[in-house]
Amino acid sequence: QFDLLVIGGGPAGAAAAVYAARKGIRTGVVAERFGGQVLDTMSIENFISVQETEGPKLVTALEQHVKQYDVDIMNLQRAESLSLDENGISQIRLASGATLKSKSVIIATGARWREMNVPGEKEYRGRGVAYCPHCDGPLFKGKRIAVVGGGNSGVEAAIDLAGIVEHVTLLEFGAELRADAVLQKKLYSLPNVVVIKQAQTTSVLGDGQKVSGLQYTDRQTGESHQVDLAGIFVQIGLLPNTDWLKGTLDLSKHGEIEVDNRGQTSLAGVFAAGDVTTVPFKQIVIAMGDGAKASLGAFDHLMRS
Ligand code: FAD
Repeated sequence: QFDLLVIGGGPAGAAAAVYAARKGIRTGVVAERFGGQVLDTMSIENFISVQETEGPKLVTALEQHVKQYDVDIMNLQRAESLSLDENGISQIRLASGATLKSKSVIIATGARWREMNVPGEKEYRGRGVAYCPHCDGPLFKGKRIAVVGGGNSGVEAAIDLAGIVEHVTLLEFGAELRADAVLQKKLYSLPNVVVIKQAQTTSVLGDGQKVSGLQYTDRQTGESHQVDLAGIFVQIGLLPNTDWLKGTLDLSKHGEIEVDNRGQTSLAGVFAAGDVTTVPFKQIVIAMGDGAKASLGAFDHLMRS
């Protein structure tokens, strides 16, 4: 039985594990894929104190740091359900059939960007197709880009990027933008943004090396159009990895785990951290801070119970 079991091996989970192990409590990490989204990241330029690094390099450092301590890392293991027994001990069932028990749990299962699922998207991911404006915006300085998605995140991304890049084309699938009115007003006030509604992106175009444009269908006329671009920011949703928790603890309407300011969820002794939670901004430094905070929250809980 663990004192603290961390589910997820991204930056939030790794930070939580290090903080817990340093308290001398019996700590385990279950991860479907240790490293999480960071494994899929090419260049990272906003991990403070490290000017530039690459995802896999940072993951190696994360793993080495966790392995400095007596932490039981169970990689390539997927958690399928969580429940509390009559003594308040968490039971985590894994896809392998095993059940792990722990006095406290930190859920750090992260999130994934919803993809357009069109030809070229996967091929040019990281080579013009981007999902995170805070991360990759500066790479497109002075270039023409598109933002796909007219919800809050798409419109925020377009406003943010318009200050960095030469020109932004925002493509919205529906007849209207879905972002808050104040964001739309700001967007329409910008001289270097064009909004195209009723646009269904049908393919990402490239020259073999990097993105050169996209194709979309005007859903009203059925006509196909091409836009020449250096980058495409896909902003059609961030999906928290909480499918396995539905009905177990309180989730927001977007499926994110509701947490208080110490990472406590609606279940006693169960904490959560990073992209899987309602934390407003999804970034590596934020996830790490969040993991550390939830770990201290869980330790405090253990001391008192
Ligand atoms: P994740 O990194 O998503 O890790 C989740 C972990 O949980 C993984 O180990 C996963 O395998 C595991 N898991 C999921 N479900 C289960 C389950 N049921 N059972 C067991 N384990 C499970 N941020 C920056 O700050 N700078 C950047 O430059 C940057 N670039 C990015 C580029 C890309 C392409 C992407 C996708 C993201 C980028 N981000 C960047 C965002 C950053 O990667 C995330 O904010 C951060 O990784 C979140 O950390 P996390 O630990 O909360 O979740």
